[in-house]
Amino acid sequence: VTEPRSHRHLLVRGGTLVTMDPGRRVLEGDLLITDGRIVALGAGIVPPPATRLLEARGLFVLPGFIQAHVHLGQALFRGLAEDRPLLRWLRERIWPLEAAHTDDTAYASGLLGAADCLLSGTTTVQEFGLVRGMEGIFRAIRDSGLRAVAGKCLMDTGEGAPSALLEDPDRAVEEAGDLYRRWHGEAGGRIRGALCPRFVLSCSRAIWERTVTLAAELGAPVHTHLLESEAEEAAVRAALGTGQMEFLRATGVLDADLRVAHAVWLREPELETLGGRPLKIAHCPSANLKLGSGVADLPFLRAQANLAVGIGCDGAPCNNDMDVLEEMRLAALLQGLKGGPGSFSALSALELATIDGARAVGWEDTIGSLEAGKAGDVVVLDLDRPQTFGAPGASIYDRIVYAAARDAVRWVVVDGEIRVENGRLPHLDPEEYMRRPAEAIRELLSRVELR
Ligand SMILES: [Zn+2]
Repeated sequence: VTEPRSHRHLLVRGGTLVTMDPGRRVLEGDLLITDGRIVALGAGIVPPPATRLLEARGLFVLPGFIQAHVHLGQALFRGLAEDRPLLRWLRERIWPLEAAHTDDTAYASGLLGAADCLLSGTTTVQEFGLVRGMEGIFRAIRDSGLRAVAGKCLMDTGEGAPSALLEDPDRAVEEAGDLYRRWHGEAGGRIRGALCPRFVLSCSRAIWERTVTLAAELGAPVHTHLLESEAEEAAVRAALGTGQMEFLRATGVLDADLRVAHAVWLREPELETLGGRPLKIAHCPSANLKLGSGVADLPFLRAQANLAVGIGCDGAPCNNDMDVLEEMRLAALLQGLKGGPGSFSALSALELATIDGARAVGWEDTIGSLEAGKAGDVVVLDLDRPQTFGAPGASIYDRIVYAAARDAVRWVVVDGEIRVENGRLPHLDPEEYMRRPAEAIRELLSRVELR
């Protein structure tokens, strides 16, 4: 599958390259992208004829940011689910709203959410998906230019969930498989599929077991939510007589290519149950604070060789600021409170959104650092402004993580295509990602009664 390219060669000229490569090199120079791949980086690259130039003198060039957990289908719901802990947040607001989605409203939400992600420098998301409207989300990802791992959300049980979200496990998993086969590898390989059972309280044993079987058949990853709040784990223990980790082990889920959001309450006993199996984690600090879920122990998680830890803004109604730069800052600040200043460096926070994020979405051979052979996914930051002024000797990582926000983003490039330029999305019509979502949420709200 190929997409027509607007240019074969793109040269980002004369910037500071913050490579996030194995040596964490920071070097002055150029970066050449040809046919969507980084082919060279360093000083004085001579561009081939008809190269598109981005003049980056005085700017910082980084690998595009990776968000290991988002909900594009919730982008329309910002501000509609305030001041509630996790289970009430889901039951009273998010589930009824998600249940009212159609492919059309999901497309509008997906495009709005993707625009939001791109504008903060995000080039890759691991998208959790929807029960209804998933085709619309996939189409929005394709049209937005984002790189994504995505799959249909699976649910078949759970207190307080609307019947429209509770599907027959056989049919739900079958539909998830059909969507996977249709979309995996689409958009020139920018889109990858996944299977997404929501969390233990939403899914019967049957869904988990069918998911594990299908995941093995397709070679697909499994993406879910795990150990987000204490109340959630208590509810699982009350219902099943066992914790989430033990339940997932018993159903074979831990043996899949498993990616989980949160893991706030993953500690020694859960690690023992995991038994050294690999696990990919998306840290979502804003959502964990807003829903009062807790603060994950990042140094502890990152010290485990079998864990890969990335970062994500989760959803617009639990953040509500989908700025991945803000998310990195928050991750670092919270560890300062938890473990003391210096327990988690700005470089570590940047790793969450770049090279470690790539591992957390299983795509580290292609994204996460600026290296020849990797995809041309790049964000260019302008820090030469009062709010990001840097004294001589100040670390570039500290400047980016602690001071920069989305307004520093000058360009965002995905697969060699320019997707953001000075706060604009040159390939999209604002009607599509602003006016259409405003209509879609009005239409959706007319069909739903919120408690
Ligand atoms: Zn989530």
